[in-house]
Amino acid sequence: MSPRPKRRRMLSEPPSVSGFVPESGDYSFASEDRVILFFEEYEAIRLADYEQLTQLEASVRMHISRPTFTRIYESARKKVAKAFIENKRISIEGGHVEFQADWYRCENCGSVFKRKSGQKAKSCPVCEESQIIPLQQAAENFPGRAGSPGCGRRFRGGRGMTGSCICPKCDYKEEHAVGIPCGSLLCPHCNIRMVREDSEHYRFILNKRKK
Ligand SMILES: [Zn+2]
Ligand SMILES: [Zn+2]
Repeated sequence: MSPRPKRRRMLSEPPSVSGFVPESGDYSFASEDRVILFFEEYEAIRLADYEQLTQLEASVRMHISRPTFTRIYESARKKVAKAFIENKRISIEGGHVEFQADWYRCENCGSVFKRKSGQKAKSCPVCEESQIIPLQQAAENFPGRAGSPGCGRRFRGGRGMTGSCICPKCDYKEEHAVGIPCGSLLCPHCNIRMVREDSEHYRFILNKRKK
């Protein structure tokens, strides 16, 4: 008997960061000594613990059965606990998911943007390079070496509680709201994820951006 094909777990959108690092600074990005949280595991924690849905409601959102949800959720919590207690960094990548829209990440400038389903993107709207990967494909290719999810470069986020979130393409700005990562906001004009104005990433993007 061949195994049943796994149904894809539906995600409304990708997480706004590619991972977390312990404050001790006692880690290396190159190191394999990390906890890998699959996209669907991140989503399970988001729905159950952050949005506080029941497991049944959460399973409906993800288009999976309730027992499957429970299994994913328990695995997610074990991984997060391990990272907290053992000072490991967490990478959010891989898994068996389907996003509700077509999301892409530019490998050149690190911008993340969204297209309506069916609209294929050919180049990055910010830097106009063609090294863009659909996040869907990034998840499926996992575990990958080169080209694995996560832009090759890592950036420190903006600091402090004040400042602005800015669109990397059109410079549309919103005041940064505490507790809401800039990366969770989409520019209303460009459908590109906003970034912190005083971040390394934004300065990096400005160097790459085509006028
Ligand atoms: Zn780009
Ligand atoms: Zn914009």
